[in-house]
Amino acid sequence: MSLQQVFDHLDANMSTYKTRLSDAVAIPSVSNSQETEHVEATRSVLEDYTRCLLESIGATVDMREIGDNQEYPPVIFATLGTSASKKTVLVYGHMDVQPAQMSDGWDTEPFAMTTIDGKMYGRGTTDDKGPVLAWINAIEAYQQENIPLPVNIKFVLEGMEESGDSGPLQDLILSEADGFFAGIDYTCISDNYWLGQNTPCITYGLRGIVYFHVNVKCAKKDLHSGVHGGVVYEGMAELCAILNSMVAPNGDITITGINRDVLPMTPEEEASYGPIDFNIDTYKSELGVTKLTHRTKAGILQHRWRYPSLSIHGIEGAFSDAGDKTVIPAEITGKFSIRLVPDMDPQKVTNLVKAHIRSFHNSTGSENEVTVSTTASAFSWLGDTSDANYTAGKRATVRVHHKAADLTREGGSIPITLTLQEATGASVMMLPIGSSDDGAHSQNEKLNVSNYLNGMKLLASYMYEVSQLAAGR
Ligand SMILES: [Zn+2]
Repeated sequence: MSLQQVFDHLDANMSTYKTRLSDAVAIPSVSNSQETEHVEATRSVLEDYTRCLLESIGATVDMREIGDNQEYPPVIFATLGTSASKKTVLVYGHMDVQPAQMSDGWDTEPFAMTTIDGKMYGRGTTDDKGPVLAWINAIEAYQQENIPLPVNIKFVLEGMEESGDSGPLQDLILSEADGFFAGIDYTCISDNYWLGQNTPCITYGLRGIVYFHVNVKCAKKDLHSGVHGGVVYEGMAELCAILNSMVAPNGDITITGINRDVLPMTPEEEASYGPIDFNIDTYKSELGVTKLTHRTKAGILQHRWRYPSLSIHGIEGAFSDAGDKTVIPAEITGKFSIRLVPDMDPQKVTNLVKAHIRSFHNSTGSENEVTVSTTASAFSWLGDTSDANYTAGKRATVRVHHKAADLTREGGSIPITLTLQEATGASVMMLPIGSSDDGAHSQNEKLNVSNYLNGMKLLASYMYEVSQLAAGR
């Protein structure tokens, strides 16, 4: 069987693939840094390193500038194969990384990949250079075995992901909906992680977010509590009461109407949590907490993934130094966010929050100035796990790992996912290859050698299964 030949090739060439990843890690493409070295590296990792690799597998590479005056690194649009008889798969990934230096507490040089006990340590190994290279390696293996690639591939590879500034890329993608993104059948993103360390996952959902600032102004200047305390409607007291009125200590959101648009649970979804490999005690000890707001595995996962949550993040302008200060702050700003789930609408949520705060403020009798604004918002995303894209991912997982993938969601927000779905009008699937303990964004980021190799086999199998399903097999 031809796929076995691809697997054998991948097994036999692991040292090449490790060198490749090591070369990529050595380019310090730190996202959104002011350092000239990082700015140049982020440009170079795309324009030189990645472009060269893509051209070596025969892809047509189109470097696209975003923003003005080269303020952003370019985006790679690459095309490999245009056969009308094959499905076209879009691959998204990023070649920029989080900052890292030895003094942060790394045990090895972050930009010099070091392999210890089957773990390849280095910034970007798992997020996201390793997964991007896994695609290229898998494609190259088909080619070097003289087996026709089962699908056409398009790549979108960027260098701004870790900066959180995805606006310019989103604009470019949407403007190319009828251009580069026309004719794409499926999108596959490998830029997240398994839920644990042993069971492969397919991720089909992300939460959205709205971030709020609520500003309370109670006087024209800071006041002395010994002189004026007792007669002023103090802003801090009102702000704390406002924040407290929105969420209970057990996590319940107490804003009227907030849960109205939350998709009801279907029996199929309820059942899907049962088989997921997730240990409550391990999770609690990872977090260093003794009790969670929910007791069952399903309850915990559902409240991380498919129900909204409200978190209070901080108060700007409040006294927060050590020691005592008897101040009544004149003006403070509370910051909180709500994670959104299907089918919540960021604008509707904003309106509900504003109405809640207005009515709460009116009930206090204060004449303080209270204003609410939002700084960021993103819709949630939900894939259809029964479509052909996911079927290919599930089959590929069983082929490589000999067990079914856990169907997971992420509690965070990755806006590009929804943008790609909008631009292509087609199914998007997240197919992670890294383990939960890889430490993306953290010290000692790593990718297991086994995850790298199995990830290549997974992606090779996924391409094969897409073609099989298209052929009705
Ligand atoms: Zn990433």
